[in-house]
Amino acid sequence: MGKRVLVCGAGGFIGSHLVTRLKAEGCWVRGVDLKFPRYAPTEADDFVIGDLRQADFVRGVVDQPFDEVYQLAADMGGAGYVFTGDHDADIMHNSALINLNVLEALRRRNCKRVFYSSSACMYPQENQEDPDNPNCAEDSAYPAHPDSEYGWEKLFSERLYLAYGRNHGLSVRIARYHNIFGELGSWQDGKEKAPAAMCRKVAQCPDGGTIEVWGDGRQTRSFLHVSECLEGTLRLMRSDFTGPVNIGSDEMVTINDLIDRIARIAGKTVRRNHIPGPLGVRGRNSDNRLIAERLGWAPSLPLNNGLERTYAWISAQVAQGKKDA
Ligand code: NAD
Repeated sequence: MGKRVLVCGAGGFIGSHLVTRLKAEGCWVRGVDLKFPRYAPTEADDFVIGDLRQADFVRGVVDQPFDEVYQLAADMGGAGYVFTGDHDADIMHNSALINLNVLEALRRRNCKRVFYSSSACMYPQENQEDPDNPNCAEDSAYPAHPDSEYGWEKLFSERLYLAYGRNHGLSVRIARYHNIFGELGSWQDGKEKAPAAMCRKVAQCPDGGTIEVWGDGRQTRSFLHVSECLEGTLRLMRSDFTGPVNIGSDEMVTINDLIDRIARIAGKTVRRNHIPGPLGVRGRNSDNRLIAERLGWAPSLPLNNGLERTYAWISAQVAQGKKDA
């Protein structure tokens, strides 16, 4: 019989892709979220709409000892949501409550294995000031100094999962995701990340036109296509390694380079108008030495390959005049 799997956050970007992948493997999947996936119907066998901040609701959803639980639900978004400061209290309160409730329900039901999606945003900001040389090695996390409350909550929850692992015998797996992107993700609802935002701007821009870019565009990042994110997530979950471990690309680019690549894919000449905006750290790149060492695997899909797939999907949305409601 296939595994019985619970995906929390199954209506979100990564969670909805994860459900599809688990179904293709023959698992029985229950998804939970505040909402259904936005761009394609869920493939989950059972999809429960509800609020994971409510402990009673979470206990009801965890009604059996699932073989695997993936906890992806969080109050999150791109720089425009996380770095303005306007949502700090919500981000910390909502995501911490979800993690507290989920872990307690798993303990009560004797679930054995849980995956938690942390973020590269938990790394200390002073290690990410040099755009050419950011340090995001897993062991650089402490002394802690994330640049956002989102990052602090991730750090708290990493520790919470590890504590439940130590004290309650739960097998915990923790990944620190670095900028995951791809088709079926937010592209114009205010929670979109740089690759989706830039694909949208380029798709909407006439050939030879100008797009607005937050900051000077010289900040560096790496971006991982969601297919590789899932591959790493499943490999980690089914390994004997707890983590935390980076799941990200180490193909670092500047935001200006990202835009140029997307413009080339679109076959357009695009000018950039640099304007003030929320930015985050100056440089960030995934350090993939630990994942290669412990899992014998690291993501390798070239950035351009993922951008081509994402641009094709977003430009089709733009062409059809779809709203990201
Ligand atoms: P997402 O926002 O698309 O998905 C999160 C889902 O959680 C949403 O569908 C949302 O409705 C759901 N959710 C939020 N509050 C809830 C609640 N109270 N009850 C039930 N459901 C609730 O985000 P994503 O990009 O799919 O990210 C998934 C996870 O990976 C998150 O934990 C995120 O912090 C982490 N992560 C993502 C990235 C990335 O680049 N996408 C990077 C680092 C970490």
